[in-house]
Amino acid sequence: MANWQCCKCEKPMEVKDLSLIYYEMLGFQSGLECPGCKIKFITEEVAMEMNKTEAEMEAKFG
Ligand SMILES: [Zn+2]
Repeated sequence: MANWQCCKCEKPMEVKDLSLIYYEMLGFQSGLECPGCKIKFITEEVAMEMNKTEAEMEAKFG
């Protein structure tokens, strides 16, 4: 995985387990948190997984 850096604090982002409220069925996902300003990002992998899930949900309920 690439090294991520907060664009605001220029600190290296820490890998954390983030609770995703919107997709709460997925539970905890790995994400990145800035130790400075506490901004959170999900990783590209998780974002791709979420897109996949969203597509599946649309196929099921849409
Ligand atoms: Zn920051």
